Amino acid sequence: MIGGGLGGLAAAIHLALAGRRVQLFEKNDCVGGKASQVRAQGYTFGTGPSLMTMPWVARQLFEKAGRRLEDYLTLTALDSTCRYRWPDGTEFNAYQSLPLLMDEIARLEPRDVAGLLGFLRYGARIYGAVAEPFLLHPFDGIADLVKPALFRDSWKIDSLRTVDQAVRSYFRSPYLRQVFNRYATYNGSSPYRAPATFNLIAYIEFIEGGWYVQGGMYRLVEAIAQLAREVGVEIHTNAPVERIELRDRAACGVVVGGERIGARDVVVNADPRYAYERLLPGRAPMATKLGRLEPSCSGFVLLLGVRRQYAQLAHHNIFFSHDYPREFQAIFEKRVPAPDPTVYVCASSQTDPQHAPPGHTNMFVLVNAPAADGRIKWAREAQGYRDAVVAKLERMGLDGLNQQIAYEQIITPDDLATRYNATGGAIYGLASNTMWSAFLRPPLRARETPGLYFVGGGTHPGGGIPLVLLSGRAVAERVVADGRETKQRVAVS
Ligand SMILES: Cc1cc2nc3c(=O)[nH]c(=O)nc-3n(C[C@H](O)[C@H](O)[C@H](O)COP(=O)(O)OP(=O)(O)OC[C@H]3O[C@@H](n4cnc5c(N)ncnc54)[C@H](O)[C@@H]3O)c2cc1C
Repeated sequence: MIGGGLGGLAAAIHLALAGRRVQLFEKNDCVGGKASQVRAQGYTFGTGPSLMTMPWVARQLFEKAGRRLEDYLTLTALDSTCRYRWPDGTEFNAYQSLPLLMDEIARLEPRDVAGLLGFLRYGARIYGAVAEPFLLHPFDGIADLVKPALFRDSWKIDSLRTVDQAVRSYFRSPYLRQVFNRYATYNGSSPYRAPATFNLIAYIEFIEGGWYVQGGMYRLVEAIAQLAREVGVEIHTNAPVERIELRDRAACGVVVGGERIGARDVVVNADPRYAYERLLPGRAPMATKLGRLEPSCSGFVLLLGVRRQYAQLAHHNIFFSHDYPREFQAIFEKRVPAPDPTVYVCASSQTDPQHAPPGHTNMFVLVNAPAADGRIKWAREAQGYRDAVVAKLERMGLDGLNQQIAYEQIITPDDLATRYNATGGAIYGLASNTMWSAFLRPPLRARETPGLYFVGGGTHPGGGIPLVLLSGRAVAERVVADGRETKQRVAVS
């Protein structure tokens, strides 16, 4: 296994449970990949995902190994998955309790309560149509999907409209339209281009809820890494893979620290485009092909240790921009940082006081940014953009923030690219900005290289914690099935 992100760890566990010897090589000093953590001056910051959705996916991983997730972790349901704020002072809380949510919606636009109920029915229909072929048992190629059910159910998945067009048909309030459009960013896409099928993401969060992992999201990584070790996965950190070895076109091992390590199969959790460019010499055409696909957005991150508390901050907060279409145009069309960005702030110390010294706040600040393509010189631009983001938060109510910062770290798209070998620092792998995006992703099983597989946000079903865990299960199923087929062939011949 090349890479110890969550997808790689999940695949390693499934393979070990299937009786395979699994060696996992991670270039960094800890596993978890983009789901990482920084501890400094008494503050703890998650530096990647901060909200847990679809917890049943992680629960199933532990159950497969005969364990209970709850013996490793404590999940706490949040009363509200996010507090939204607009420049004009309007506020909205995405309550998990349906009656509270309906009251909150009615406060903004009474007619949108019926819109919400319609939207949830519509989301259920999409979920029913895509769960099997796209999420739970992702397909291997378009041929897999061309079945009567696809044509019968195609209207259900609403792929011809955009997320925004469908959201507009359910909600009248411009505020609520912005709230529901935001879910397209959960896979790094634009609501003005991504197919309406992705309204599924909002549906899942409003129906199933969102959780906080006590101790922070990195506890999930630690629990999954512990499970991996318990089932026999050999984890090597500070172990960058330099090359994938090929024999007769098939993958047969890796080179780490100059040492050749033979393997029956090689599963790549690193970004597929990076792998074709850097680990598989002679596969330049594949790298070029993947280079034509649109990456998901990246992120501009500030970790701020703040010497005071703000009563108006919830655990998860969004400070919206005043012109959402213009923001996505900047990120995906002009490929520049949005001049007035939407700012996400996770202040986990609001529910987990251990994450900051008494009376202080830990603020993980995330702004969507274009995937790096070399045109933006972040080394030069980062400080100015940081000042603009902090000034925006001050304007929107976090008085005197700049003066109260005791610790700070800036993470740019270039940093994400370098730290994780993620092309452009894309945080979710590839964007899903067209109805064809899902079919253009590199498959779990490399077509041109027997014995080579991919897992994680760069392949199927996509980025985000639950999806990369599902990717781990799907790739392991393929490795095991291919191994069984090979054995049968050998036995017959
Ligand atoms: C700032 C940020 C915010 C996010 N917010 C959310 C969120 O709110 N919700 C959500 O669900 N998701 C979120 N995500 C996305 C989520 O973190 C990712 O989709 C998921 O963690 C990716 O997992 P993965 O399996 O694709 O592997 P990655 O995390 O991409 O891991 C790949 C691993 O491979 C390693 N590697 C690369 N090259 C080599 C090599 N040559 N040798 C050895 N190892 C190598 C890398 O170091 C890395 O550890 C966020 C991500 C970021 C960065």
